Amino acid sequence: MSALLDQDWRAQALCAKFDPNLFFAPGAVEHKEAKRVCRECPVRMECLTYAMNTPVDHGIWGGMTERERRRHRRQRTQLLLGA
Ligand code: SF4
Repeated sequence: MSALLDQDWRAQALCAKFDPNLFFAPGAVEHKEAKRVCRECPVRMECLTYAMNTPVDHGIWGGMTERERRRHRRQRTQLLLGA
């Protein structure tokens, strides 16, 4: 099954034990704390893969902010295009 369709990893998401607002707050302090949780999460890679490949445009996913994910998408595209 495609990684996009298979979302069984969500059952192991460490963030489920925390206030969801922590992962969607705009502040740098909240970002830092959310990223700390993500670093310990057993499904970080699955989460980040999902967020990089779907139009998830806000919040901390896989330990990355929306801005960080956008930058990585651009870099990935530039690599693919040989730019
Ligand atoms: S990596 Fe972070 S946002 Fe993703 S499931 Fe784990 S704790 Fe939640």
